[in-house]
Amino acid sequence: MTDCIFCKIVAGEIPSKKLYEDDKIIVINDLNPGAPVHVLIIPKEHTQNILTASDDIVVYVKNKLPEIVKQLGIEEKGFRVVVNTGEDGGQSVPHLHFHVLGGKALGWPPC
Ligand code: 5GP
Ligand code: ZN
Repeated sequence: MTDCIFCKIVAGEIPSKKLYEDDKIIVINDLNPGAPVHVLIIPKEHTQNILTASDDIVVYVKNKLPEIVKQLGIEEKGFRVVVNTGEDGGQSVPHLHFHVLGGKALGWPPC
C-alpha cells in the first residue's frame, strides 16, 4: 500500500534488519524498544488491524510464534504479544503487526 511504512519495510524500500522472513511475515526489532526484547511480527500483506485480518494470517502467526520466541531466547521465561488497535489502543502504524516483548518481568497493567 502506498505510503504505508510497514509495506515499505516489507518491500525493502526502507532498509531494516529482518530477524526472520518467509513468504507471509517478517520479524524486525522495534525502533523504540519497550523491553530488552521487542520485535514486531509484520504480515507482508497489508491489512489495517486485527479486525480486518484474515483468520489465516492470525493462525499463521500463532503457529510461527514458538519458532520466533525460541530464536529470540524468550520461550522459557515468557513474553507478551500485543496488538494495539485503533486510536485508543495506541496503534500508530495502521498495518497489522504483533509486538512481542520479553527479556524481563513486564509490568501490568500496561497503561
Ligand atoms: P503501534 O504503535 O502501531 O502498535 O506500533 C508501531 C511500532 O512500530 C512502534 O512501537 C514503533 O516504535 C515502531 N516503528 C515505527 N516506525 C518504525 C520503523 O521505521 N522501523 C521499526 N523497526 N519500527 C518502527
Ligand atoms: Zn502496509
